[in-house]
Amino acid sequence: MTFVKRYENISDQFSVVSRPKVSMMPELLLWNDDLVTQLAIPLVANEAAELLSGNRVLPDVEPVALAYSGHQFGHFNPTLGDGRAHLLGAFTDPQGQLLDIQLKGSGRTPFSRGGDGLCALGPAVREYVMSRAMAALGVPTTHCLAVVTTGDSVFREQAVAGAVVSRIASSHIRVGSFQYLALNDDKHGMRELMEHAIASHYPHITETGDARTVAFLSAVCEKQIELIIQWLRVGFIHGVMNTDNTLVSGETIDYGPCAMLEAFDFNQVYSSIDKQGRYAFGNQPNIANWNCARLAESLLTIMESEEDTALNMLTTAIGTFSDKFNQAYKAMWANKLGILEWRESDSELLSELLTLMNEHKLDYTNTFAALTNSIMAKPSNLFIVHEVIAGWYKKWQLRIAEAECTDIAKIMSRVNPAVVPRNQLVEQVIEQFMEVGSSDFLTQWLPVLNDPYNYEQQTSAFIEPLPSGANYHTFCGT
Ligand code: AMP
Ligand code: MG
Repeated sequence: MTFVKRYENISDQFSVVSRPKVSMMPELLLWNDDLVTQLAIPLVANEAAELLSGNRVLPDVEPVALAYSGHQFGHFNPTLGDGRAHLLGAFTDPQGQLLDIQLKGSGRTPFSRGGDGLCALGPAVREYVMSRAMAALGVPTTHCLAVVTTGDSVFREQAVAGAVVSRIASSHIRVGSFQYLALNDDKHGMRELMEHAIASHYPHITETGDARTVAFLSAVCEKQIELIIQWLRVGFIHGVMNTDNTLVSGETIDYGPCAMLEAFDFNQVYSSIDKQGRYAFGNQPNIANWNCARLAESLLTIMESEEDTALNMLTTAIGTFSDKFNQAYKAMWANKLGILEWRESDSELLSELLTLMNEHKLDYTNTFAALTNSIMAKPSNLFIVHEVIAGWYKKWQLRIAEAECTDIAKIMSRVNPAVVPRNQLVEQVIEQFMEVGSSDFLTQWLPVLNDPYNYEQQTSAFIEPLPSGANYHTFCGT
């Protein structure tokens, strides 16, 4: 496998050489064979424990930790950086795209501050399951290549097994990476990083001068909009949408205290650390907008126009976020409801449904799956339209009957998953790994998660939400 050093020319402090910790007894626990095939990764499972724990570093590889800053829950932290991750380098996939491979939980780096640089088995398993499920759901995401147990203990209130996650991402350029360079007044580094991000993710940008910087900002905003729309469509709550956890590529990164929405509620928060509901399900679009504004602030430092003009240009770009988002948002609901052409009156139909779902704590996934299933040629009896929406359902049927289209069920079944990674099932898998080191359940569940729009093969064990009234909480995965 040939690794490319990708970030070494950005600036001196941006990437720092750092060796992964040697683990006592690395063993391969989870191996994403589908990803290996898809990306033609020239690694074989029996070398993976040594290479993906960081115990053996190939001669042409120089692992680095990247510097970044970040707004965490709205508060700026100037010195974050990879405190427990080592980037091995980048490789080229069969489509010619560069992809980073990074180890997470592989020991201390110059950015570890007081942390141990390690990752516990539970969060590693969560990242593996969630990222695989999200990829299959069609949500842009970083991928998990493998989870290797280290044989060492990690202390998290008590001693637990340690693990290293190997992550594949189309880059690790965060909003926080730009914030770091802006803070250090490193204009050269900023330009290098922006050019690198443009070459990797936005090669269509041809503008020059300040218009180029603005075009880059707009492109990142659009990618963030696409990402958040996908999260809302499938009911994903990230839980820690800090600027350091926001990639300019628009991929989901850092599956920490994330969860899937069950009973419908825009205010739903599962993370125990999100006391104010900053990262609630329905607040994710506002936060993405806010994070893009932080990118704009950083980019201001490399604008060449007079400050007022420059500020104006960037503010105008950020100002288009809401309109662009609202347009994409309407299109998302139109697809979810099988409405081919959205009219103003459809907003009322939608809000009536969402209000009923909220009042009656109806499961988000199963409600839309039931609507979809109900108009299929051969409906399954697993998804039943709840009686409390019976009145609304009649209006909806009349509305979709207006379109002369026989394929509405097909449109809906492409956007409304029949199965998502249910919170309590993810917990169950994690518990099994912690208790017995394996999970038979995951073996049965993965093929189902890999085919989430298949309404035919589902069994009830995979689709049941938490019993109503049960509280689910996630904790920060460090
Ligand atoms: P996260 O919450 O995983 O996005 O991490 C936020 C910041 O804390 C990043 O700079 C991480 O590198 C750092 N961090 C998280 N966990 C650890 C750890 N166990 N040891 C050192 N740094 C950590
Ligand atoms: Mg992070």
